[in-house]
Amino acid sequence: MKFGDFLGNFRRTQPSPSEAPTHWVKCKSCQSLMYYKEVENQLNVCPKCGFHLRINVETRIKQLTDESSFIEMDANLIPVDPLKFVDKKSYKKRIQEGQNRTKRTSSAIAGECEIDGVKTQIIVFDFSFMGGSLGSVEGEKIVRAVKRAIDKEQGLVIVSASGGARMQESTFSLLQMSKTAAALKELSNHKLPYISLLTDPTMGGVSASFAWLGDIIIAEPGALIGFAGQRVIKQTIGAELPEGFQKSEFLLDHGLIDMIVKRSELKQTISNMLRFLQNDKDSFKLKLKANLAHHVTEDVI
Ligand SMILES: [Zn+2]
Repeated sequence: MKFGDFLGNFRRTQPSPSEAPTHWVKCKSCQSLMYYKEVENQLNVCPKCGFHLRINVETRIKQLTDESSFIEMDANLIPVDPLKFVDKKSYKKRIQEGQNRTKRTSSAIAGECEIDGVKTQIIVFDFSFMGGSLGSVEGEKIVRAVKRAIDKEQGLVIVSASGGARMQESTFSLLQMSKTAAALKELSNHKLPYISLLTDPTMGGVSASFAWLGDIIIAEPGALIGFAGQRVIKQTIGAELPEGFQKSEFLLDHGLIDMIVKRSELKQTISNMLRFLQNDKDSFKLKLKANLAHHVTEDVI
């Protein structure tokens, strides 16, 4: 065996750094290196600086809903490729890759659940499936969740983590913006609450439609939220942009969102809001008395 071949064999037996298992998590904000258990115990929030790390759909559902209460709905909806779209890869291949990676068929997971005992319809976007993009299946899942919410007189929570509309579906994708907005109007006509939770990142056609139509719009700290990317805006208007202008904190200061809530307080805040907006005021007041409400004061009631 030639020495070069020997080296080649040796190299192939070693996992690449990206494949190697690691139990250490590096915070993107303060660069601290921490044992993964320490970060997990803090709901994937950096214990040193409070930076909210991105979490997957399973973890999000586990953190937000009551144990074993989540029942997935519409899991059988599968994206099609009506335009036979090909960019660097075919759309079919991208869907297949997303499915292999996540073991699911779309970037939105829909279901029924209880949040601190409040029965609710929920949609959670999965950024690891084609950047959490909004296609026909995702739009349809939202519309069906709204219909279930109306039938059962429940509220709706949508957790967004998305790069925007799915360009591979072109107009079919853009139509989901108006389709979901129309469905949410119907929910509003029935006086049922819709809470929109914006997580890092929420961009493009998602932020420009259902994500910003919530009765209450909550964001996680430090989340990137906007329509166009910073570089595109800078090139278009030819001016320097303010520091952090697409972060939750900036948007709260400028009135675009209602509140920023730490991950550790999200479940309680959302259940309080659902109770309050569904006129379950007695139960809501009980919760307040138990000192469990953090964000709504007595005079709101
Ligand atoms: Zn940190």
